[in-house]
Amino acid sequence: MITGVIRPRPRSLLGVLVAAAAIGVAASAVALSSTPAPRVSPAVAATAGPAAPAGPTGATEPSGPATSMPSVPAASVPGTTRVGTRPPVVDHGPRTGNRVALTFDADMTDGMLQNLRAGRVKSYANLRIVDLLEREQVPATFFLTGKWVERYPELTRRLADNPRFELANHTYGHAAFTGDCYDLPRVRANAMTDDVARTFRAIEPYGGRQTRYFRFPGLCHDAAALAALAPLGVTVVDGDVVSGDPFATAWQPIVRAVLDNVRPGSVVIMHVTEANAAMTDEALPYILAGLRERGLVPAMLSEVLAAT
Ligand SMILES: [Zn+2]
Repeated sequence: MITGVIRPRPRSLLGVLVAAAAIGVAASAVALSSTPAPRVSPAVAATAGPAAPAGPTGATEPSGPATSMPSVPAASVPGTTRVGTRPPVVDHGPRTGNRVALTFDADMTDGMLQNLRAGRVKSYANLRIVDLLEREQVPATFFLTGKWVERYPELTRRLADNPRFELANHTYGHAAFTGDCYDLPRVRANAMTDDVARTFRAIEPYGGRQTRYFRFPGLCHDAAALAALAPLGVTVVDGDVVSGDPFATAWQPIVRAVLDNVRPGSVVIMHVTEANAAMTDEALPYILAGLRERGLVPAMLSEVLAAT
């Protein structure tokens, strides 16, 4: 099974518009003015949180330190948007300044878990990436699947404990939210909201720099998928620099793909999935050096999207 493969896709016009204003209710309301949104009473949004997910609950609830309610975003959490509105889609931040966001996806599917259990794969957690970022004190943002968090709780704790790392949501089991998405198994339409809510519940107990940023597997989304996220008050983050690190067999193309395309405000997509992205840690030192040469400075996603 192919997981985590990213291919370039047509850029969303909305993304550029929203990028400058990804944070804050007023900004997203402006950016989404052309998209009629369901009306939600402010009181309901503030106190009751998102409506109950449409998907089944109970039997599929995760074990572990989760609450039974969908998570409720606090206004101060980066990426929070108004509950009940279709989320904005962001490709990058403003093209001013010198900040760029390094983002690392942590995919985990049932097939990957089977590979681990059967000993076919040693690890889907690239500690060398985390070691390097920590050693060099480089800010980064991690898009975590719920199943990855449950498989690697200690590493999740380590990520959460680093004040330079932000945590974001990459679905529960890395299933596709549209048809025709890299042969990934598909989430049922009525289970989409709960899948993402459940992932927040898996991540939130770890604390640290929580966000309401969300990235679709394979960046695959359509109107129905975005509508399914409306109850959750999130910002969808795609990215504008695709490193192509999944299943890479050499580090040089990754470095080239990043450094040839990175600009101020860029959101770089990489993976921390080790066996499925085995060259990323080798590419990273060259990427960091290349950014320095270009006068670009890694920053957390919230800082890049908020930069003025
Ligand atoms: Zn992914």
